[in-house]
Amino acid sequence: MRIIIFGPPGAGKGTQAKLISEEYGIPHLSTGEIFRSAIKNETPLGKEVKAILDAGDLVPDNKVVELVEEELKDDKYRDGYILDGFPRTVPQAKAFDNILEKRGKTLDAFLQLDVPEEELIDRILSRGEGRSDDSPEKVKNRLAVYREETKPVINYYKKQDAVKTIDGVGSIEEIFERIKETLDNK
Ligand code: ADP
Repeated sequence: MRIIIFGPPGAGKGTQAKLISEEYGIPHLSTGEIFRSAIKNETPLGKEVKAILDAGDLVPDNKVVELVEEELKDDKYRDGYILDGFPRTVPQAKAFDNILEKRGKTLDAFLQLDVPEEELIDRILSRGEGRSDDSPEKVKNRLAVYREETKPVINYYKKQDAVKTIDGVGSIEEIFERIKETLDNK
């Protein structure tokens, strides 16, 4: 199964992606986690993207697309995967379609986690993960970037009739139940 989990910062994408990964036995590919680990390990990629992540801005499309395309060549993604944090712009979504097409694959579901904006800010500020981009100012910027550059991705996938909207308010378990129901009834 090839799945995209999509939503604004703080929507719970990472949390749900991990549960989906365990339940369905497919690897979790989080571009944000790849970048944070590169920064922590001070790799060339990490040095390149550190200031961008710190500001809550987006890494350039070509960089991200190249990274995902390379990563997906790993044999562990052969039978499917859950993408978290990618695609995050319409050009990334188009590039991902090309990647799928090249490999003769299709997308099974685009899960859109729906959470009201007021709740997002509270969640991020209270989750205390110690991320350098979790301060009130940076969060505001990440939400603005989401509205302008990322949200249009929903319409891109609506045109493909792939969007499954999940109510993202509730407990982790409740939300995961909604996701399972959606994926199992596909
Ligand atoms: P969140 O959704 O809470 O912002 P992520 O872990 O998905 O958290 O992303 C953290 C940061 O990593 C983003 O603010 C951005 O700087 C960078 N990033 C992650 N994925 C992408 C992507 N697909 N395109 C551009 N930048 C990305």
